[in-house]
Amino acid sequence: MSRFGKIPVTHDPSARAPLGSLPGVGPRIAEKLAAGGLASVQDLWWHLPRQYEDRTALVPIRDLQPGVAAQVEGTVAAVERGFRYRPMLRVAIVDDSRATLVLRFFHFRAAQVAQFAPGARVRCYGSPRPGQHGLEIVHPGYHVLGADEEALLDDRLAPVYPAIEGVGPATLRRLAGLALDRLPGDAVLELLPADALAGLGLPSLRDALLTVHRPPRDADVAALLAGTHPAQRRLAFEELLAHHLSLRRQRIALQAHAAAVLDDAELAGRLRASLPFALTGAQDRVFAEVREDLAQPRPMLRLVQGDVGSGKTVVAALAAMLAVGSGRQAALMAPTELLAEQHLANLRQWLEPLGVRVAWLAGKVTGKARKAALAEVAAGTAQVVVGTHALMQEGVVFADLALAIVDEQHRFGVHQRLALRDKGAAGQGVPHQLVMTATPIPRTLAMAAYADLDVSAIDELPPGRTPVQTVALGATRRPELVERIRAACAEGRQAYWVCTLIDDSDEVSAQAAQTTFEQLSKALPALRIALVHGRQKAKEKQATMRAFKDGELDLLVATTVIEVGVDVPNASLMIVENAERLGLAQLHQLRGRVGRGSAASSCVLLYQPPLSALARERLETMRATSDGFEIAEKDLALRGPGELLGTRQTGLAAFRLADLARDADLLPQVHELGDQLLARSPAVADALVARWIGAAARYAAA
Ligand code: ADP
Ligand code: MG
Repeated sequence: MSRFGKIPVTHDPSARAPLGSLPGVGPRIAEKLAAGGLASVQDLWWHLPRQYEDRTALVPIRDLQPGVAAQVEGTVAAVERGFRYRPMLRVAIVDDSRATLVLRFFHFRAAQVAQFAPGARVRCYGSPRPGQHGLEIVHPGYHVLGADEEALLDDRLAPVYPAIEGVGPATLRRLAGLALDRLPGDAVLELLPADALAGLGLPSLRDALLTVHRPPRDADVAALLAGTHPAQRRLAFEELLAHHLSLRRQRIALQAHAAAVLDDAELAGRLRASLPFALTGAQDRVFAEVREDLAQPRPMLRLVQGDVGSGKTVVAALAAMLAVGSGRQAALMAPTELLAEQHLANLRQWLEPLGVRVAWLAGKVTGKARKAALAEVAAGTAQVVVGTHALMQEGVVFADLALAIVDEQHRFGVHQRLALRDKGAAGQGVPHQLVMTATPIPRTLAMAAYADLDVSAIDELPPGRTPVQTVALGATRRPELVERIRAACAEGRQAYWVCTLIDDSDEVSAQAAQTTFEQLSKALPALRIALVHGRQKAKEKQATMRAFKDGELDLLVATTVIEVGVDVPNASLMIVENAERLGLAQLHQLRGRVGRGSAASSCVLLYQPPLSALARERLETMRATSDGFEIAEKDLALRGPGELLGTRQTGLAAFRLADLARDADLLPQVHELGDQLLARSPAVADALVARWIGAAARYAAA
């Protein structure tokens, strides 16, 4: 058998058997499981635990660490039932370590309250956090022990499965166990070539599945909890491989289409000559890469990463001129109306002197204006079209769209990107795509997140920028900032005050921003202050942002909604509250709102002590560097969970088990094997994609 041998398929009928065939699964539960994407026995094999609960030991209350889940046993010392804002039950337990832990419940029944009689023994499991009276666990899993009940400790880690609505964790565990009993041998299960596996030093698929679902007694607990156990890495490898294959296949399919050859550079040359500045070396290099792509008869798929202010817009404009110069249309789409408007203003200023017509399509363009714009776009008299999502709506017909440019791609996601691509006229080939993002990510991650794209980096800022002075201050210094704002605004500058909260629900952070807004309004009565947060209507938000941009406001109090935003060169002071709670990428984005003009700018990161080691290092990084790529690398090294590459940022489907930050070191091998499979064993590639992604449409849609 060749290295890429036949594809094992699970022919075993018991693996394909519906879950209703398992003991204890009635039609009602089967329906709930199906709604959660679990239909057959084998679906449970791939329903992988993301975490484990360690109930193999009891942790003395004194040794509990905030944020580290643990099992605790103690006796009830006090019970308090309150109704301050909503019903609440607090139970204080103490143990031999003579420390107290508070269990806090917001939902409970009378019978539960009765259970917690003083002196009762309670065993509970949960993640403690700092509360009013020392550590507390909100809604712990718990068990009240009988008078002479002898409670045993588990002898192995308990898997925690992604929740399925209407099916309890205990049931899921039991079903996973039953499904696992039907797991076939590797001859049937394994898709990866044996020598590739051997080279990786990772276990076989069957071993890996058994280990993650049912960790053996002697398994490396710390590794399993950290997600770095070889069994987990084996599965992560296969999952990353499947995603890589799926993206590469999309790219191959797309590039099989023809695209317009855009090789007339005369107009682009004229634009370049008319600019009031010379391109930076990085802009020049990236434009050359784009130009080379556009001269090919197959669609370009290129991502341009460039830090805030690195000058991506002009590169986009030059690319658009290659299209227009070659007699075709280009479109530029931005995620918000304000950003799109900014582009419109720039492009009109640069292009209209060259005789290029720029049309404008956004949500607020309605009635006659919209009709006129649509007509121009359809007739091709508008050579460049700028807009928001409105560009992708039905009814928008381009005469001959040959280049689709998407700004701030992570706000759009892959689907919307594809929708714009589909605007290409029938029979004229697929438009080239240029995607621009201001969120630099390390090279390895870019390779994974954008395996369907070529990546360029504008890694140099235009000359003459004064770097933003960054300081980190403890929250007690907050009052001094009022003076700082007063001073900045007295010089005619503007300032941002960004409120963040650990509970970043819109509602709670809106409230915090509201409170800060009121305090600052009182402290700075002479200033024009406004508030933006995620709970406001889009119109209201935009009106405020616009007023700030137009200099009608001095201070903008905001939640992190301003993260991707507007160019206000006059703003020179950024204050971020609770900065310790934000990831590096977000801090960097926020800081990028200032320092866009020639005035010296500063960024104040207010933090709530005590700082965790991780938070301290993040703030230190922010003080030490302003280079987005360096910050991204540091972010990867610090591995702030989910901070680097959330679904939100990449438009990538969420993974079941893999974590791009944690598993980044696997990527080079993922790519190598992926390319081999595509070239030599496409059927195995298909089977891998079907196994991990075919059944995971619900992840992608999330
Ligand atoms: P971003 O990459 O964040 O989208 P922009 O394209 O908005 O950055 O550019 C930021 C500012 O820098 C704009 O005012 C732009 O005109 C200016 N700019 C761009 N390239 C250069 C350059 N090579 N030299 C000087 N200024 C430049
Ligand atoms: Mg931009």
